[in-house]
Amino acid sequence: MARPVLLVKSGGAAGFDEWRGLLAGPLPQLEVRWWDDPGVAAERVRYAAVWDPEPGRLARLPALRAVFGVAAGVDLIAGDPAYPRHVPLVRLVAPETTQRMGEYLCWAALSLVKDARRMAIAQSRAVWDYSEAPGKAPDFTLGILGLGGLGQGCAPMLQAVGFKVIGWSRTRKQVPGVESYAEAELPAFLARCRILVCLLPATPETAGMLNAALFAQLPHGALLVQAGRGSQTVLPDVLAALDSGQLGGAVLDVFEPEPLPDGHPAWSHPKLTLTPHVGSLPTRAERAVQLARNILAFERGDALPTLYDPAKGY
Ligand code: NDP
Repeated sequence: MARPVLLVKSGGAAGFDEWRGLLAGPLPQLEVRWWDDPGVAAERVRYAAVWDPEPGRLARLPALRAVFGVAAGVDLIAGDPAYPRHVPLVRLVAPETTQRMGEYLCWAALSLVKDARRMAIAQSRAVWDYSEAPGKAPDFTLGILGLGGLGQGCAPMLQAVGFKVIGWSRTRKQVPGVESYAEAELPAFLARCRILVCLLPATPETAGMLNAALFAQLPHGALLVQAGRGSQTVLPDVLAALDSGQLGGAVLDVFEPEPLPDGHPAWSHPKLTLTPHVGSLPTRAERAVQLARNILAFERGDALPTLYDPAKGY
């Protein structure tokens, strides 16, 4: 009898052979096939592993038991108005996701503290701009907006560098050495953040949250790292806050739309460092290991800590 199918849509058709090679070993019970393979009957598809499925496609798979994201954020899957709500959706957070995000946040926060953007501009002009940024990590309280799985995992790396880490989430957390603020305590949290790191998921509640009103609640000259989702950033407000000095510098990894359009003033702002949504991108091999773990755990009926909750939207 033909094996049930796992459809894969991530990295384009060119990436599929690698996915199949990586998944065939740990998942021999499944046939791994490309998302657009015309030879796959819809009734045979048991699972889909996807990043950005075309809206409506998942709803046309009658035997679908679960959908597995290939990244931590699944907004491009859950945002499908036709998503079959009875089908569990699982986010992918590999140990390497946390390690890589921790590295990114340490790099971004330190580059802001060290004024690396100013030095890069000076170098591009062959200017020996000798002046040292006065601050050092322990002088900075760094607040994580969205102290979830990633934020809690990254906190020890930021603490090891010397930052005093605090966090904000809907519900209060118990994280060693991290003061946790709950949803209603946002103003008190923001008032303390000399560095604000956003690791929020994209939801209707978080859309447009990084705006002028929020920046006004930060200490003057605060530094911003945005590694959540582009829908949360009001980019003109970021540029205005950088110009006024309310924000002293920013590192932005996520945008809406992506890529950032040609000619956008954010490309060249002297106080803004821009990265192309690479905050944490584990390799395909790293993600395949976690994807196989998630599928096997689902088949055993184990609780999945990264199960998407449609009621919460993340
Ligand atoms: P989690 O679901 O574990 O954490 C999300 C956190 O945000 C939770 O603490 C949650 O609170 C909090 N939160 C959500 N909505 C609100 C709200 N309205 N008010 C207050 N707090 C809120 O997700 P992860 O940590 O695994 O990932 C977070 C996000 O990071 C992803 O959704 C993705 O957008 C982004 N990401 C970006 C990457 C990049 O390369 N730039 C790579 C990987 C992830 P509570 O705990 O109380 O529910």
